[in-house]
Amino acid sequence: MVARKFFVGGNFKMNGSLKEIETIIERINEAKFDGEVELVVAPPALYLLKIQEELKPPAQVSAQNSYTEKSGAFTGEISPNQLKDANVHWVILGHSERRSLFGDTDKLVADKTKAAVEAGLGVIACIGESLQEREADQTQAVVERQLEAIANEISESEWKDIVIAYEPVWAIGTGKVASKEQAQEVHANIRQWLAKKVSQTVADQTRIIYGGSVNGKNSGDLATAADIDGFLVGGASLKPEFIDIVNSGK
Ligand code: PGA
Repeated sequence: MVARKFFVGGNFKMNGSLKEIETIIERINEAKFDGEVELVVAPPALYLLKIQEELKPPAQVSAQNSYTEKSGAFTGEISPNQLKDANVHWVILGHSERRSLFGDTDKLVADKTKAAVEAGLGVIACIGESLQEREADQTQAVVERQLEAIANEISESEWKDIVIAYEPVWAIGTGKVASKEQAQEVHANIRQWLAKKVSQTVADQTRIIYGGSVNGKNSGDLATAADIDGFLVGGASLKPEFIDIVNSGK
């Protein structure tokens, strides 16, 4: 099997003052990371450049969103080309909060993903079902629909720049983490879908990370699942336990 480098993203969302975020970054800079891990942190856009200066490599910053266009009259938006210009190499797209609160449709997420990849960014592409959809046995249909929209825009070679984040909406910020079995089942199905719809190579090489109430206590167990290649962490990324999560993949 192809080795997939463990990937952990910290999504700070719209949290923290500059001072608070700098304290978190200091903690990350001082931490000892045991294994081979790719680590990105996504502070609010306002702080990206400052945090980028302060964050010690190989950790990198990520944006939390970007638009479909290179430039123009799009008040309040950031283009992927501007991120690239500012040496910000990652962006989170399709987060469920963007989808549910800000009208990011499957098509818009796919178009944003295409624009970001074309600009040379890596994309953490988020997908996942709501509680209602899970209870109606729609989980696989929903994640396939969300993935298909992206796959329609992306060429086979562009998948190397995409990390898929499976984030069941019912687990985000709720303290109700998916069980290892629940997450593994969906991750394995996503990988099978990639094999069928894109290619076996893309299926073998694409990191599929889990997000939704990951913390320092549950990450070690989740990380042992064969198809969980890392985590996207919200609330716990602001806390000292984030270091344990980053180290859980060793
Ligand atoms: P949570 O958020 O870890 O606070 O559940 C995860 C996310 O929204 O990416």
